Amino acid sequence: MNIVYTVRSDSPQAPPLTRLIDLPLGLDVWQVKADHVVLRAAEEQAVRLRQMGYTTEEVVETEAHVARFATAEAIAAYHSVETLEHDLRRLAESQPEIAELREIGRSVEDRPIWALRIGERRDSEHKLLFMGCHHAREWVSVEVAYLLAEHLVGNADQAPVSQWLQRGEIWVAPMVNPDGHEYSRTQERLWRKNRRSNVDGSIGVDPNRNYGYMWGTLNINTSSHVPSDETYVGPRAFSEPETRAVRNLVARELFRGVITYHSFSQLILYPWGYTSQPIPDASDLSTMTKLAKRMQQLIRGVHGLTYTPQQSSQLYPTAGDTTDWTYGEYGIPSFTIELRPDSVQNGGFILPPEQIQPTFEENLPAAREFIKRIL
Ligand SMILES: [Zn+2]
Repeated sequence: MNIVYTVRSDSPQAPPLTRLIDLPLGLDVWQVKADHVVLRAAEEQAVRLRQMGYTTEEVVETEAHVARFATAEAIAAYHSVETLEHDLRRLAESQPEIAELREIGRSVEDRPIWALRIGERRDSEHKLLFMGCHHAREWVSVEVAYLLAEHLVGNADQAPVSQWLQRGEIWVAPMVNPDGHEYSRTQERLWRKNRRSNVDGSIGVDPNRNYGYMWGTLNINTSSHVPSDETYVGPRAFSEPETRAVRNLVARELFRGVITYHSFSQLILYPWGYTSQPIPDASDLSTMTKLAKRMQQLIRGVHGLTYTPQQSSQLYPTAGDTTDWTYGEYGIPSFTIELRPDSVQNGGFILPPEQIQPTFEENLPAAREFIKRIL
């Protein structure tokens, strides 16, 4: 897995790019565009892809990419497990009337998974959930969720935030996968999964393939039953304590909507991921597609960047992801937002730290619109 390649299907004998995703080749797919796929692979895997008829172009060696972007300064600018807990605790203590830090579960390595509950009423039916960091290497997803919590607590006295917090509750869980994040911070920057020891000796289940709606119904590159693969779905639905923590929280609080932040590629994704069919309920589909388009406009209005709205499976098929489950099980508006940057050349999973704040700034009006419409 040491080189990042762009793969194209531009020769007459090459199979289509969708075929590349469908095959269980154990590739680490980073980005899917209309005319190319960016993935991390070993040289032997690239040879195999060329034998199949694909064109592969080396973008960068993984080691060089990490060395360029994951500088000590860049690492220090992001939260660790420890500093996140500290800052969440500080936020809760700054406004104890409305903010409360809750442990929603523990990870494989027994780290607490934290959620900040923000709102005055505890018996309200108006609740929303924001999450970050199902995938360890997607650090900016922690920061956007955390800064949203900070924004809500800091503006608790000002309308419309004050009205929202009177009406209901907003829960923010910035780091669903703390073990993976810590491993990514200290051992291997591009680590993706959790830190489960698998039966074959490999490590890690992909938490965003482990949810219980249509779980395990695909066995492809982007949703794999091979334990050593980056998108390993796990031995069964909700086999992982991280996804069980979210399952139990959602089952208890009965949220009206969910946004889960990931990176990268700048996309606004809505269900389904497991099939190319649209969701059958026309009214729900209309709600989500309209809201996705509105969020795109609001995001673009801040710094001019484009986040593309699309059905999740248009990116690539996945079974067992968070939003298929929250929509499939509870019928609530559910979005996966893929944050900055737009490309590997601009950092890929390792977003330069000076872009944390602008990424939050452009996502704030979209998050506020989601709260305004759905809470
Ligand atoms: Zn992700």
